[in-house]
Amino acid sequence: IAIRKPLIAGNWKMYKTGTQAVAAAKQLADLTQGVTGVDIMIAPTALSLPLMAAALGKDAQVRLGAQNIYPGTEGAFTGEVSGPMIKDAGADYVIIGHSERRQYFGETDETVGSKIRAALDAGLIPVMCIGETESQRDADKTFFILDKQVSDGLKGFDLGDLNSLVLAYEPVWAIGTGKTAGPEQVKEVHGFLRHLIKEKYAEGLAAKMRILYGGSVKPGNIKDLMHIEDVDGALVGGASLNPADFNKIIRF
Ligand code: PEP
Repeated sequence: IAIRKPLIAGNWKMYKTGTQAVAAAKQLADLTQGVTGVDIMIAPTALSLPLMAAALGKDAQVRLGAQNIYPGTEGAFTGEVSGPMIKDAGADYVIIGHSERRQYFGETDETVGSKIRAALDAGLIPVMCIGETESQRDADKTFFILDKQVSDGLKGFDLGDLNSLVLAYEPVWAIGTGKTAGPEQVKEVHGFLRHLIKEKYAEGLAAKMRILYGGSVKPGNIKDLMHIEDVDGALVGGASLNPADFNKIIRF
């Protein structure tokens, strides 16, 4: 029973100008035409969202996401972008708590929680990123860290809040390094996360929540990853920048 439609999401990080983003979006739209059975999302810089939305059109198969969100609708917060602005710009998703945001911009499980709330309030699908660092894995703290990130990040949320939430497991040591977690590691963690959601919330929510894997996903390893139980898609950084590669990945 395919209750979870796979999601392949591309995180473009701070790459591509608006002009380059529109060109890549058009290429991707052409390449992915007619593909079914998978949700496709690209998260460019916020500046490119309205340009890409206009280029792709309202009913496009390639959907858009933001890479960050401010936890409030408007106000004197120089440099920030809110949920309603992201939604109005044409996005359906927002990536929250990416390890680069946690590492370089001081995001914590608490800020992640408030950003998830802001996303839901704006009608956006939150893609909540979690993952252990290499030293945490070496110290056998992987499951402790993941439990803490989920528990603290989702503190105060009800079952009904989390219907659309997507979890992305991204071991920090596998992001942009060319190292991918082994199939056993991925299977173990994804199984653990689904069980955690079941224990904390409900079996029904756990059964339908999409859990993505992220960390050096490439055309050459996507097939094996997608065969792993409890892997419902991927969050792709580097390899999403090239439309031809990303097209291969969405055709896992
Ligand atoms: C990411 O940034 O979410 C990511 C997984 O990057 P990469 O695919 O480049 O490892």
